Amino acid sequence: MTYQGLIHRYGHLLDLPVHKKNISLLEGNTPLISMPRLSREFGCELFVKFEGLNPTGSFKDRGMTAAISEAVGRHVETVICASTGNTAASAAAYAARAGLRAMVLIPEGKVAAGKLAGAMAYGAEVIQIQGSFDDALTLVVEIAEKTPIAMVNSINPFRIEGQKTAAFEICDDLGCAPDWLCLPVGNAGNITAYWAGFKQYQKGLPRVLGVQAAGAAPLVLGHVVEKPETIATAIRIGKPVRGEQSLEAARQSNGKIIAVSDEEILSAQRLLASEGVWVEPASAAGLAGLIAESGQGKFEARDKKVVLVCTGHGMKDPSIITESFRSPKIIPANYEALIGLIEK
Ligand SMILES: *Cc1c(COP(=O)(O)O)cnc(C)c1O
Repeated sequence: MTYQGLIHRYGHLLDLPVHKKNISLLEGNTPLISMPRLSREFGCELFVKFEGLNPTGSFKDRGMTAAISEAVGRHVETVICASTGNTAASAAAYAARAGLRAMVLIPEGKVAAGKLAGAMAYGAEVIQIQGSFDDALTLVVEIAEKTPIAMVNSINPFRIEGQKTAAFEICDDLGCAPDWLCLPVGNAGNITAYWAGFKQYQKGLPRVLGVQAAGAAPLVLGHVVEKPETIATAIRIGKPVRGEQSLEAARQSNGKIIAVSDEEILSAQRLLASEGVWVEPASAAGLAGLIAESGQGKFEARDKKVVLVCTGHGMKDPSIITESFRSPKIIPANYEALIGLIEK
């Protein structure tokens, strides 16, 4: 049978109310891509779960199909979210699909071009907040408490339900859970969902390596970061809503949450691209974490199955690439000029 989306495939395993009305863009079912060269380099069996191939270019669509399906089922008319970008694009798309009004709050000037464009293209009302993501989220929570508007951030439990499906898919593809799961951690909804998903699916449990950016690492530092800073805008979060649960996931899995620098993130991004997988900066944090740990001899992954969750597509944040590379050479449109370059 042709694929009909996550709720159709896994709905029986998700705690969603009967009033839900399935709103899907055929999200999920993303490939688990083996990475032979990187596997050789790190002495383990490495796979990328490429979540950038979801309908709006990030894993947020998994949770959004669930959250919007629930909201539509109880006749909500407007949805709202705070976002570093990908939640906004996803909420906008699913709201459009369902015929709902979408309002998205983003931190002023801190959202990657591909994400902002997405939210606008799908017709959301995009509002820039003179503050951080955390400030935007505080506002959204207050609005959702005082009005009938539905909040679709990952505090919304249905988001987590939908996001569990990524763990199910990995187990279905590998036949079991991997030995390690490495992923970026921002607001910590995704790591929470993966852990819940693996526990529920009963195909074994991975150790979980959660990775934050050094300038936005509240879970590593053990305190709120008032002014989070990192080029990995999707994880530029100083006050993670599911912080406790993510620490619990790391602890229960015998894994950990660590921080890596922006330079390490960018070099991991280049390394993934060198084997054909271009992801946005935040999505490279898992590999950056693996490299940092194995460099210090702390990563016991020899010959083990390791899954890197690559949460969003590289096309979301093109300027990070175009600004750090020299512009392409310009030559006259003739054979001599081109052959001169080729034979150089
Ligand atoms: C949202 C997001 C994250 C962080 O996920 P959390 O659930 O907030 O921890 C990481 N990478 C990308 C690309 C994202 O969109």
